[in-house]
Parts: sequence; C-alpha cells; structure tokens
Amino acid sequence: MSLRLRDLLLGLRQLGLGEAPVIVHASLSAFGEVDGGAETAAAALATVFHSLVAPAFTYKTMLTPRVGPPENGIIYGMGKDQNRMAEFFTPHMPVDPLIGAIPEAIRRRAGAERTSHPILSFTGLRAEKFLAAQTLAEPFAPLGTLEAAGGWVVLLGVNHTVNTSIHYAEKLAGRRTFTRWALTPRGVVECPNFPGCSAGFEAIRPDVERYTRTVQIGEARVQAVPLKMLFRAVTARLRQDPLALLCRDEECERCNEIRDGFKKKGANP
Ligand SMILES: [Zn+2]
Repeated sequence: MSLRLRDLLLGLRQLGLGEAPVIVHASLSAFGEVDGGAETAAAALATVFHSLVAPAFTYKTMLTPRVGPPENGIIYGMGKDQNRMAEFFTPHMPVDPLIGAIPEAIRRRAGAERTSHPILSFTGLRAEKFLAAQTLAEPFAPLGTLEAAGGWVVLLGVNHTVNTSIHYAEKLAGRRTFTRWALTPRGVVECPNFPGCSAGFEAIRPDVERYTRTVQIGEARVQAVPLKMLFRAVTARLRQDPLALLCRDEECERCNEIRDGFKKKGANP
C-alpha cells in the first residue's frame, strides 16, 4: 500500500521535535511507494517542521585542475571528461541527483531559499538565519547555527554516511579539509574547506544511539539526533582516535591523505 501525506505527517510528528529547527537528509525510494512522490514528502516535512534546511549540493559544477596545492586528496589532471561536462553554477540549478529528489522538491517549494555556494549550497524553508551563515570559506556554518538553536538532524531512510553535520563536527575537532574548484559565471572559484569523505560515518551510530529518536514510516527508518549530542560524540571520538570515521576503501584519496598526514607528523595512530 502506498504512503499518503497523512502517514508521513503522523510519522514525522511522532519524532516529537516541536519547533526545533532541523536539517534533513532523505531517500524517497527508501519509503516504498509514496502517493505524489517527492512533492508529498517535501510537503510533509514543510508542514511538520518549523525551520527546515536540506543540502542542495551541485557536484556538476566541479572542475579538477591540472595542477594545484599538494596534499589535497585529489589526482590532478584526472576527470577531463567531467571537466568538459561541468556546468556553471546558477541559483536555479537542480540539486544533484545523488542528494535525492526530496531536497530538490524542498528547493522548488514556494518560499524556499537557496544559498549561493557553487558546490555546497543549502536550501531551506523559514530558515533564513541559518542559511545566511554560509560563506565560501565556511560552507558548513549553517550547521553550527542550527546546533546553537537546539537543532536536530533527521535522517529519512538514510544513514550517517550522508550526515553532512558530521563534517562540521570533524572540522571542529581539528580534522583537515581540502580545496576544490567550481565553475561559475564569474569564472572558476576556489572553494576552501571542502570536506573529507563520509563513507565511514556510520561508525558514529553506537555513540549517538541513546540520543536518537527512531520511527518507522512505511519501509523507511527515520532517525533524529540532536546536533549538540552528535557534535559532542564526533569530537570525543576523534580526540580518542584521530583516524576514526575514515572509510576502508584503499583507493579513497581523501581518507588516505588524512592517514598520510598523521604518518608524516610522526603521530602513532
Ligand atoms: Zn574515504
């Protein structure tokens, strides 16, 4: 049986987040069938949550230069085909399909705003003060302002491997970041503080389990975690083990760069 708007409203209200602002990450297909698809899911989120933020990232704008700064977790000169296909960032560019149809449906809702970072923009409803915190140099600043306002992260049918807020916390803990480049109508823009890889982030789950609220909506497990407790858990974990939350893919350039950085410093991870 397909899910209707009222099923989604009921489920989301069971999280009991009240008027707390939220950042959402969502997979539409994880719910099973939804009447009206992503628009229905976006309508439910917009109805239940007072202030709503979602990633609206646009990886199609990214360029890989032939040369660049060292120790940057990138193979320069690669991705020539991708460079040829790169698109100029515009405020109306659709959210990358990797981020999902629900954030795109939020972006298209009446009254939605979108920040202007050419790769890591956010969209939101009634979230001006959070979105306004973003700069080119501090792409994840909105997550800090959400945390300060008692915000939560809501994972709808997805796990912590897409939890962007963990990037904010790992930077707080001193983890290094990278530089990337994006195509814009003003030319190629250098984007500092680009995050590392998130493929290993599910390892934080046991550390936040007792603060996590979970409801089942259709086939999707929906989890909500208070950002304050998430940030504490990530910083504590990285203090204990600076190489925690990295992925296990031996070819992963960004995770390898972080491991190599520790070896060079003579640290004993
Ligand atoms: Zn990795």
